Amino acid sequence: SDGRAQREIPFAQAGSLTKVYAIASGKGGVGKSSVTVNLALALAAQGLRVGIVDADIYGHSVPAMLGIADARPTQVDDLIMPVPTPSGVSVISIGMLKPRRDQVVAWRGPMLDRALVQMLADVYWGDLDALLLDLPPGTGDVAISLGQHLPSAEVVVVTTPQEAAAEVAERAGTMASMMHQRVVGVVENMSYLPCPHCPAEDDHRLEVFGSGGGDRVAATLSERFGYDVPVLARIPLDISLREGGDVGKPIVEADPTAPAARELTRVATTL
Ligand code: ADP
Repeated sequence: SDGRAQREIPFAQAGSLTKVYAIASGKGGVGKSSVTVNLALALAAQGLRVGIVDADIYGHSVPAMLGIADARPTQVDDLIMPVPTPSGVSVISIGMLKPRRDQVVAWRGPMLDRALVQMLADVYWGDLDALLLDLPPGTGDVAISLGQHLPSAEVVVVTTPQEAAAEVAERAGTMASMMHQRVVGVVENMSYLPCPHCPAEDDHRLEVFGSGGGDRVAATLSERFGYDVPVLARIPLDISLREGGDVGKPIVEADPTAPAARELTRVATTL
């Protein structure tokens, strides 16, 4: 220890007005980070003050998706200032805590715990209405640390329709519940591809990843926890969603009338 008293996590204090949502998934590549950034922008568009903690040690793709890949937080006294996006969302990423961007860091349990607490307690968040945490996929150390430090965080589980994805997503949800966190709902991503060759009014959907994953996770968790865990949205596959992430302009801002953007915005209104 460096001898300083550890600062308290403001969101864990009684009377904190900030809603904290952890975005979880069973495995990588299902769209967890895409959901996180679009949800944040949709909440900000409602006039809320929003922050993102990118705690995905494997990906930390949030800054790039928001067009701030090269930004570094500044320090004022011993507080870290989060990086603002053009639309005013405050962001801190575990990738920003590395001295050099290309550095490979083998984050381990205690180090991860310290990094998570640092991002929550040593960052000057100001008054936030909502804080979104992009968790690493699975049921690992970060999820346990978060549960210990912030049991009041609510969890959104992201899955694809695929059986194998749903099974591991259920595990991530169950883990959250073991940490006494409430699972507020399931987002099914990559639910279908609108047939690019059919007239739009036919609404012909290609089920690229099968079907039923979102419903399955919602039903299993509802039964296991004894409260209703709804499917909050079914987001279609959309090339512009992927492109928006690649160029740092998320779809809810770049193309808000696209069905995928509407579904993401709908999640923001139901939370
Ligand atoms: P995770 O955080 O779960 O690893 P990402 O959000 O990084 O997943 O998504 C993985 C890749 O899939 C990204 O390139 C992203 O743009 C793309 N993607 C996610 N959701 C969709 C979707 N609904 N349609 C098209 N591409 C998507």
